Amino acid sequence: MMSRFAGLILLLMLSINDGVTRGDSNAARPSNPAERVLTGWGGGKADEVVAPAAAVGFSELVVHHEDAASFTRFIELGKQHGIGIYAWMFLGDLPAWKKALPDDDPPWQVMNSEEQEALQRIKADKTPGKSSYQFGGEPVNELEVLETPLLCFHDQRVTEAFKKQFDEMLAFPGIRGIAFDYIGYQNYRCCFCPTSQKQLADYRKKHPKLSAQKALQRFSLETLVDFNNRLAAYIYSVKPDAKVIAHVYPVYLPELLYGNRLDLDVCAQTAAWFFEPFWSLEKIRTYSRIIAKKANRYHSRPRGAALVGYYNSPDKYSLKSKERLAAELQAILDGGCSRVHVCSFNAVLGNPEAAEAFRNFFGKRTRGE
Ligand SMILES: [Zn+2]
Repeated sequence: MMSRFAGLILLLMLSINDGVTRGDSNAARPSNPAERVLTGWGGGKADEVVAPAAAVGFSELVVHHEDAASFTRFIELGKQHGIGIYAWMFLGDLPAWKKALPDDDPPWQVMNSEEQEALQRIKADKTPGKSSYQFGGEPVNELEVLETPLLCFHDQRVTEAFKKQFDEMLAFPGIRGIAFDYIGYQNYRCCFCPTSQKQLADYRKKHPKLSAQKALQRFSLETLVDFNNRLAAYIYSVKPDAKVIAHVYPVYLPELLYGNRLDLDVCAQTAAWFFEPFWSLEKIRTYSRIIAKKANRYHSRPRGAALVGYYNSPDKYSLKSKERLAAELQAILDGGCSRVHVCSFNAVLGNPEAAEAFRNFFGKRTRGE
């Protein structure tokens, strides 16, 4: 139970070092409603979703940009409804790779044989609830990996491919910025492709005192963070007023809440995942405190955001009730985090109870109460 162990260590470290669990002086206060920001990840047709999203209280939406007419319409309607529109970047984006480097085979991340077997087992599992597979969130089972293949960002060409995509995104007039997604490892810890292994060998030569395990972890985390930061720096260099936001996903097991290492505008880290077992309110509060209070530990720029997963497919996965969503949102605010990201905003808009739960916290009428 790697993930539970890592989670336990995190909680332990927090209670020893942070102080937020001790005494009242550090207790986080619920945020001022006027400071709350709700960001939604999803898609759909702008004419069907932007106005309803505004009514729920969303002020930012992340959507695909490939269909230029559709994306332009999102920006246009977003402007009318006070919603900033971000283009969605995804590390498994094969079409983006092919567009940038049509003659090159995509450098996919590679997993070891045990992880490959886990992938086959997960893919073959068609049971409702998929045996508690967490789809890239903190695993519940012994060995989980992401079903989605991801490009290996240790290959310099991947950076170049996404820079080209960013040029295309940033050319849309009125775009608020770019949102990073799926920047992580398919096995939640490292990559075994030849390029990664070569770079790891060089890293070990430079850090001879580190154990093999420690070197792998540090190399994997440092390069993961560096990739995010290089991409963000590129975006700021092309369009200084563009915003860069990210969701830390899939989970990186050796350090769950590494998002504050990313030097970008807003980093969303998971505070309440999609699936059962739903996270305890104590865990949601604890994560939200870290997300909000430690946001500037490494950089002065970033603001922390808490991501809530909401999936509306009750035939397969337990639906979060209105009360459950309200309790999760309250726990996040109690943790001191005033920015919330939700995936997907379409699922929220598609369920009146969910929409109401979010509207109660973020709707314009509740502002200034
Ligand atoms: Zn690799």
